[in-house]
Amino acid sequence: MSLHIPFDNSYARLPGTFFTEQAPTPVAAPRLVAFNEPLARLMGISPGEVEEMAQVFAGNRVPDGAAPLAQAYAGHQFGNFNPQLGDGRAVLLGETVGTDGKRRDLQLKGSGPTPYSRMGDGRAWLGPVLREYVVSEAMHALGIPTTRALAAVETGEPVVREEVLPGAVLARVASSHLRVGTFQIFAARRESDSLQRLTQYAIDRHYPHADGPMGLLAAVRDAQVRLIVQWLSVGFIHGVMNTDNCAISGETIDYGPCAFLDTYHPETVFSSIDRDGRYAYFRQPDIAVWNLAQFATALIQQLDDPEAAIEEASDIVNSMPELIRAEWRRVFCAKIGIAAPRDADVGMAVDLLKRMAENQADFTNTFRALSDGAPRDQFVDPEAFDQWAEPWRARLAEEQDPQAVMRAANPVLIPRNHRIEAMIAAAVDGDYAPFERLMAACARPFAADEAFADLRRPPAVDEKVQATFCGT
Ligand code: AMP
Ligand code: MG
Repeated sequence: MSLHIPFDNSYARLPGTFFTEQAPTPVAAPRLVAFNEPLARLMGISPGEVEEMAQVFAGNRVPDGAAPLAQAYAGHQFGNFNPQLGDGRAVLLGETVGTDGKRRDLQLKGSGPTPYSRMGDGRAWLGPVLREYVVSEAMHALGIPTTRALAAVETGEPVVREEVLPGAVLARVASSHLRVGTFQIFAARRESDSLQRLTQYAIDRHYPHADGPMGLLAAVRDAQVRLIVQWLSVGFIHGVMNTDNCAISGETIDYGPCAFLDTYHPETVFSSIDRDGRYAYFRQPDIAVWNLAQFATALIQQLDDPEAAIEEASDIVNSMPELIRAEWRRVFCAKIGIAAPRDADVGMAVDLLKRMAENQADFTNTFRALSDGAPRDQFVDPEAFDQWAEPWRARLAEEQDPQAVMRAANPVLIPRNHRIEAMIAAAVDGDYAPFERLMAACARPFAADEAFADLRRPPAVDEKVQATFCGT
């Protein structure tokens, strides 16, 4: 049986300014360490022998029908505009239309240098590849829009970071790799033809009902509103919400120094490169609005009279904070068992979070304990919970089935940072058992499976991971 990928490459048919043709650079000794067969089947891919898949997903053999290319894009990194980024260590092999009728990109990340590599080596090391594999698949299982992981390959080559580390390639799947930065590169170059072409491509691919650039802007706003609130609802911190890491599809993309909260504190930052806390947990909604404003600024450059469009674009961007607040109220009230929130209920959700922060309560375990556990035990001062819970219990008496609402809104399990770090350390030593186990557990995050009870435990003091390093 040989690997077959039914490519149909729409991006490669766009004008040459959108990308550079670029084959992946072969590696010394590829070894397939993970393969997502259900996702492959969904994409219409027939799996092949392990050795053949290692060759293809490492980039040593370009499969029939692929049209490998590196995409051009720009972006604001930590607020500063960089007019030329692009895929510096990734190639898009092509796209498939799956058995569900959906078009998806297949990209190799860590596949060698491209014209956009700047000073980089075009490579990735095993740690970030496995982190992205686990976290993106966990996000998918949580029901949160995300890029996905099809395969991971060890390259058999060293990668030099602060130390010498094993190299790896991730075969990543996305509904597209169009980013805010993909629009920004053409806006910065004042190429309104390219912008128009890209806008139409994005509409056709993601939002066929959107009407023109402003319709696209509103559709992306709505997708980002849902995404950001879903991140908040599971305590996720993306870590690097630059505009080049903001997908038009509304999927979570580019997992770098990301992590889930253990103890709840709104100002938590994990990324070692985020010194000002720009991308802290509680800032993510504001940054999403800021990113949408950059998208709006880029989109209007294609219009004959950009000035005339500023008002409409501003209205769309300015509506976003209130849309996020409304979505937040809905989602966080569900987390405390209230399906149809009233105004007064919102204060109750806010008050719980405040008490959690003051009492070092674990984010995931506290919310889950509201339906099936002992939430007061999560608080340094359990009375802080008791005081909150009295009016809450009275309010829940008016709800239909609050337990079911909470169980659907509060996962039992998220891939905790210390578990990910331990999994990476084991894989570097050749032991993939912790990876397999974490993947199995995170595949069913709402199931209270006793076999994975240990993975629910927050880190002990000496297990706490202070920062996930960029060293990607
Ligand atoms: P990221 O922070 O991973 O989203 O990457 C930001 C930019 O840097 C993108 O243009 C990447 O392609 C590029 N980049 C990151 N790491 C490397 C690397 N090791 N080699 C070349 N380019 C890289
Ligand atoms: Mg990126």
